[in-house]
Amino acid sequence: MNSTVRQPERTCVGCGAKRPQRVMLRVAALEGDAPKVDLEYCLPGRGAYLCRMKSCLERALARRAMERSLKLKTSVGAGLTAELEQQLI
Ligand SMILES: [Zn+2]
Repeated sequence: MNSTVRQPERTCVGCGAKRPQRVMLRVAALEGDAPKVDLEYCLPGRGAYLCRMKSCLERALARRAMERSLKLKTSVGAGLTAELEQQLI
């Protein structure tokens, strides 16, 4: 039996690196709703993934990568940015 559990990999919208989903932050956006940090990886809607690093958050914000990935009509607000910053390591 194969003992290694295959982990889904996700691409960071900041740096473009692929990492196991569990080490990344997920931001979820349902159409018509404000995007949220999805710590349990279970919210419905589109998801954007980010390494837990300030440089990745900054790059994603500068490139509007989350907005593009989540197809947001407005930019990621200060509230969400602050929530993401709390999750950085
Ligand atoms: Zn990254």
